[in-house]
Amino acid sequence: MAGSGTAHLRGDDALLSVTDLVVEYHTNSGTVQAVSTVSFDVLPGETLGIVGESGCGKSTTGRAVLRLDHISSGQIRFGEHRIERVGKKQLRELRRDMQMIFQDPVASLNPRRPVKEVVVEGLSIAGSNSDEKSTAAEGLLNQVGLGSERFVDMLPRQLSGGQAQRVAIARALALHPRLLICDEPVSALDVSVQAQILNLLEELKSKYDLTVVFIAHDLGVVRSFSDKVMVMYLGKVCEFGDSIELYDNPAHPYSRALLDSVPLTDPDRAFAGPALEGDVPSPLAPPPGCRFQTRCPKVQLRCESEEPQMREVRPGQFAACHYPLDETDARPLVAS
Ligand code: ADP
Ligand code: MG
Repeated sequence: MAGSGTAHLRGDDALLSVTDLVVEYHTNSGTVQAVSTVSFDVLPGETLGIVGESGCGKSTTGRAVLRLDHISSGQIRFGEHRIERVGKKQLRELRRDMQMIFQDPVASLNPRRPVKEVVVEGLSIAGSNSDEKSTAAEGLLNQVGLGSERFVDMLPRQLSGGQAQRVAIARALALHPRLLICDEPVSALDVSVQAQILNLLEELKSKYDLTVVFIAHDLGVVRSFSDKVMVMYLGKVCEFGDSIELYDNPAHPYSRALLDSVPLTDPDRAFAGPALEGDVPSPLAPPPGCRFQTRCPKVQLRCESEEPQMREVRPGQFAACHYPLDETDARPLVAS
């Protein structure tokens, strides 16, 4: 396998396989490497959670998979296809198979289209007439919990955030995609609504046999939802592994710090420990060596000059760290 940060890739069985992805943005202040040699794969039916602080490259990674942003280098294989190589026409066809839902549901919907039309628009099934489409759209709206007549003619701005996200989900499912990329789909919603939308996604995931990439900025939301988790920092992958394992026993000090910053109101996750301190360095000038070295509580001399590569630190758990944490670093649970 190409590149040195790819130890955690699992080969040809994956539905989606991203290798050494680089996405650069050229700005007036310089070049930002928003995604810097990122590799990951997702097996069919699996859910991969991508977590990390704001600005670490999660959205850029998700958008690159659908080629919504340019790709500076690297490979993205989806089934038999190489996304970075296909022509425009084929890309359009492939995008039916890969749908995305976004953080701001109202903004992601056409403001002038009533709810039902938004979903009908997604249903471009060749040969089906408008009655069939209408029935299919009603069926989808029913499945996302918007079966009531009163919703069909509403405009996006007349909906609550949760309702609008349900419409966006119905639209995404209209073409029976194989891959669903969810970019912080509940971050903008009220806490009480978040659980409802997550439950809905969970239900539809098994019903439609979906493979999912689920982006979130904290580990709390992804734990129950994801089979695997990838932690990103400043455009790079720090850790990749089984979600429960990574949650219970993170190997990268950054994963541990992220976990510690999960609010103590989560009864399963009440660690005593300092939350993440300091600011993320500028992506215009990332630190040499390990990118996390300026904030890492375990930093040593080697980290300042030598970039750690991904390696298996425990069976199935991979981290890019010279001095990964082990069980003895686990902090005791604090009764909350
Ligand atoms: P996340 O989704 O993890 O918050 P993003 O992928 O949105 O992070 O951004 C990663 C980095 O790329 C950030 O430093 C961000 O400022 C930069 N970035 C994202 N989009 C653009 C753009 N269109 N032009 C310039 N820089 C961008
Ligand atoms: Mg984002």
